[in-house]
Order: sequence, then structure tokens, then C-alpha cells
Amino acid sequence: MSASSNNIAAPAPPEGKPLVTPRQLTLVCVVLLALAWGFLPEFTVSVLSNIGLYALVAAGLVMLTGVGGMTSFGQAAFVGMGAYATAWICTSPTAAAWLGGIVAPGLLPWAGLLLGLLFTFVLAWMLGAVTLKLSGHYLPLCTIAWGLSLYYLLGNMDFLGGQTGITGVPPLVIAGVSLATPRALGVVIWAVLLLALWALHNLLDSREGRAIRALKGGRLMAESMGVDTARHRIKLFVLAALLAAVSGWLYAHLQRFVNPTPFNLNIGIELLFMAVVGGAGHLWGAVLGAALITLLKEKLQDILPSLLGSSGNFEVIVFGLLMLFVLQRFSDGLWPTLARITRRWVREDSTAKASTAAAPAKALTVQLAQRTLPATGELLLQASNVSKRFGGLVANNEISMTLKAGEIHALIGPNGAGKSTFFNMISGVDDPTSGEVKLAGQPMAAKPSRAFAALGLGRTFQHVRLLGQRSVVENVALGAHLRAKRGWLAAMLRLDRAEEAALMAEARKQIERCGLGAHADTPAASLSLGQQRVVEIARALAGQPSVLLLDEPAAGLRHLEKRALSVLLSQLRAEGLGILVVEHDMEFVMNLADRITVLEFGTVIATGTPAEVQANPRVLEAYLGGADDELLEDAR
Ligand code: ADP
Ligand code: MG
Repeated sequence: MSASSNNIAAPAPPEGKPLVTPRQLTLVCVVLLALAWGFLPEFTVSVLSNIGLYALVAAGLVMLTGVGGMTSFGQAAFVGMGAYATAWICTSPTAAAWLGGIVAPGLLPWAGLLLGLLFTFVLAWMLGAVTLKLSGHYLPLCTIAWGLSLYYLLGNMDFLGGQTGITGVPPLVIAGVSLATPRALGVVIWAVLLLALWALHNLLDSREGRAIRALKGGRLMAESMGVDTARHRIKLFVLAALLAAVSGWLYAHLQRFVNPTPFNLNIGIELLFMAVVGGAGHLWGAVLGAALITLLKEKLQDILPSLLGSSGNFEVIVFGLLMLFVLQRFSDGLWPTLARITRRWVREDSTAKASTAAAPAKALTVQLAQRTLPATGELLLQASNVSKRFGGLVANNEISMTLKAGEIHALIGPNGAGKSTFFNMISGVDDPTSGEVKLAGQPMAAKPSRAFAALGLGRTFQHVRLLGQRSVVENVALGAHLRAKRGWLAAMLRLDRAEEAALMAEARKQIERCGLGAHADTPAASLSLGQQRVVEIARALAGQPSVLLLDEPAAGLRHLEKRALSVLLSQLRAEGLGILVVEHDMEFVMNLADRITVLEFGTVIATGTPAEVQANPRVLEAYLGGADDELLEDAR
């Protein structure tokens, strides 16, 4: 009986009851590895230790590249940094002279770790500050540049032994036990790796984790949610570098000598292979990738020379081809494919998920920051003579308008009239060429959009910007980013659980309110485009805004959904929000808006109540006389 044809005979586990959860499986694997560790052959232990070291660096790269969307070829240089720091401290007479009185010889490796981390931290922060501003291909190119520089630096410094490196690195001693063999140190390596994976998983499953994921969705969206993207990018870069440095530290005490070779660009590329082949956005993919590439390298180094009759670095060529193949066939790496194949047996228990959904309701010990909404009629947003030029094109021409608390103000006009451009002007995405924008009474010139978000401006985008692979509730929780404050360390150590529960509860509340309760746990991308627009509204509401900017919220909605949206917006107005909406559906606009401003070719041609605007001859001409017969179409 072939494995593929016995679907009926095999007793399939019922939906929602997998054999094991990923957590249980991880635990079983770890226990098995621990039990077997003492009995595995020397060579296997050594290979496993190397896999652990590589996986530690690859995990950082998964965070940086797969999750954060930044590619680094230079990670091996940070490994070298960690390795050389400890090798130098442990062997150099100069270091001994400095530290001799203070640090006992057995503690020197720990001083080395500290120095390596400190050095890497400073260097990575500086490199990050300079290079992470680059976009597109420039960032990867730049990482190649400093990867090479650091490698040559290590090899050319006399006090670091030049190309020969440093020998005589002592073993690590923990609690009086000398970890001189791979079997002993391997335990530490894997313990550190598992601890790092645990912490990184925690980080991803948190407020800051959502912010990190949002980096990949484009800076525009993340910044509008209040995320300081530049800072998050640097922090992520530093985190990945520190993991690499820890790996280097362990490596130095495993090998007991260091030279520049293992830290060159080749290895940097190999490390990136591991992260990408394993699973660009999946932490366990780092372990899978490290294992695959390490084992493959061992095998290829054995087989290729005998196959080709001469020795050389042929495995690099095979790696290149392999990379091409994997990226072609499995653009997300191998981990998601593995997860798909084993989904039948290994899956999150859906009953467990339901219980986490219910949990926040009973354990709300932390309050999210609350904003006191302004009184109805208070001036929220004021644009005075705002102009925006793109070269010779005047997209916005001296536009002045106001938005008050408790009103719905519609901005209409034919395609290309400048509505979205104006939205960008009043939400900090782009700076006006001239004119002034005031939010909550404050002049906002040259302020980033996260400053607008902090002052209570929530928005949606004409082209939906959601993290499609993440659940609706995660997407919406990102909107409440600024209402919570626990940072990276708290998240890694799971000290943020109460706050996280409050965030999730808030997200679910807004999702319910927007009528998407049934879809809270589905990936956002699986919703219809119209529903995705509503998810964006829920995300904006999670930030408890006083100003809401909606760019074509009703596009793609069906009739009943439009009516529900109308009801929701009316409710929000009654609560005192000021809502500025761009919309093409005239029936929707005319029934809902208190005031309407009409744009044509970037200029305001009319403003007033729906009745006034509808009777305005210039508006009629703009709509009926032009190519965009939207009023006419809606009248039919
Ligand atoms: P609307 O949202 O009303 O359809 P937009 O604000 O998107 O109109 O566009 C107004 C005009 O500005 C259009 O002619 C558009 O081509 C132009 N435009 C918008 N953004 C840019 C940009 N970043 N660079 C150059 N021209 C732009
Ligand atoms: Mg537009």
C-alpha cells in the first residue's frame, strides 16, 4: 500500500485534534537529544555543536532578513568579533596586565564575552545607523562591503595574530567544570541556542514583534501605526549581530584557536543561505537550514573531489545552484513546506486557540493608555493653504479645510484630483511644499507620521496595507501599538503577558465592533478586499483615535456591508470622532457626510453640506462635464 493512496484507511486525526502540538514535539526532540547526547559518537557531537553555532547566527538572520526584510551578507564578521574578543582577552599579556588584578583566570572567557558583546553592540549600532537608511540593493551591497573590511581588519592586525590568528584559547569553565570537549561545550551551545529561540519566539509574539513584522509591510504603514521604523531596524540589526557574537564566543572556546578564515564573506553568504533555505521567516527554519547546509557541506567535501578528480571549493558552486533551486521552488524556504507536510500530525490545537481567545476577558489586569476624546465641535485638524508639487504637477493647490470632533467630512473629486496626496499631507507621510497643517492645535511641519499617530490620528490606506500572512487580530493589535509600552527585553522574557492580553482584548473588541468577529483568527490575506479595508478601519480604531482618515473605505464592499459601515461611522461620529473620508460612492457620501469638500485638479472647487454641493454648478460641471461620470453613474 503506497503512502499516498491510503488516505481513507489511515485513521486521520479529527480536525482540531492534532497528535502533538509544536510545543510538545519540540519538548520531545529536546529531551531525546539530551538523553542521546552522552552516547552519540564523537564526530556526531562535533557536527551537532557546529550546527548549533551556525543556527544561532542564522536565527538572528531569520529575524533580520526573513522577518524584518533586511539582508545582511556580513554576519560572519560579527561572529569573528565575538571570537576574537574572547581570544584576545584570554591570551594577550596586555589584557592580562589590565585585568590581572580584577578578573580571576577562570573568569577571563566571561570578560571576553562581555567585551565581544560590547564591541559588537557599538559597531553594529554605528554600521546600522549608517547603512540601514539605504534601501533596495544598496543595503545588501553595503553589508558585503563592511563584511569584507572587517574580515581584512581582523587578518591585518598584529596584536590579533595576523593571518595566523590566536592559539591557546582556554576552555570555558562553568561552576568549576572545564568544558574542554565538544561533548561538554556542545551542551552549552545547544542550551544557548534553545534559549535564544525561545526568547526570539517570545519577541515575535508581542507588541514589538508585530512592529518588527510591520517593517516588511513597508515603512509607511508601520510609521502610521506609531512605530519608529528606523529605530526598530537598528535594534533588529544589533540583535542579530549580538547573536552572531555569542556564537563566535562559543566557537572560539570550542576550537580553542581563532584565525580570520571562518569569518570571511564566503561564510557570511553561507549563513544567509542557511536562514533563507531553512525558512526565511521561521525561526526553526534557522536550525533546519543550519543542519542541512552543514551536513551537505560535509558530504560534498567528501564526494565532490573524488567525483571531479581534483580538490577545491566546489561545494560553493553546488550551494549556489541549490540556492537557486530552493528559491525557485520554495520561496519561503523549506520550513513552511515541512510544516505543511506534517500538518496532519503536528498542529496547534484549535481548542487551545479558542481558550487563549477567551482568556483576556477574565484576566485584564493592565489598562491600555486611554485618550480623552475632545468635546464635540472642537477643532481637530486644520489645513491652511496646503500645496504639494511633484515637479511641474500641482497635486494640491492651496487647499484649506478643517475637521471638527463629531463630524464626518467627505473629500470627493475625480480620479487624480489630489485626494490621496492631501491625505498624505495631513498625516505626515509627506511634507507639503507650502502651507501649514495643525493637529490638535499643534503645528505639524516636518513631523513624521508616527507623531501624528501619537496625537490621535488613525488612518486607512487606499491600497490596503496589511500583513497578509498574519491573523486579523494581530494586524488590528498593531494599531494599538502606542497604547502599550513594554519593550523588547520584557517581551523576550515574557514579562509582557498582562499587557499583551489587554492588547489582544482591545483588538478583538474592535474586530467585533467592525463585524469581523468570525474572521479574527484567519490570515488577513484570506479575506475579501472589502473586508480587508474594514480590518484597516478596526486597526485604526484600536489606536483610539480622535481623528480618522479613511481613503475609499467602501470600495469593494457589498451593499449590506456598506450599510454596516455607514452605521459604524455614524456611531463613531456620535462618540465624538472627527472623520475625514475620501469616497467615490456618492450615495454613501451624500447620506453620511455632514460636510463635503470637492477637489478638482488639486483645487477646492466647492465646500458645504451635501445639498449645497449637489446644487453647485461647478461641481456638476466637474462631474458631468468631465470624463469621470461618477455622479451620473450613481444617479442611474
Ligand atoms: P486621487 O487620490 O484624488 O485620485 P492622487 O492624490 O493620488 O489623486 O494624485 C493626484 C495627482 O498627483 C495625480 O496626477 C498623480 O499622478 C500625482 N501624483 C501623486 N503622487 C505622486 C508622486 N509621488 N509623484 C508624482 N506625482 C504624483
Ligand atoms: Mg486616491
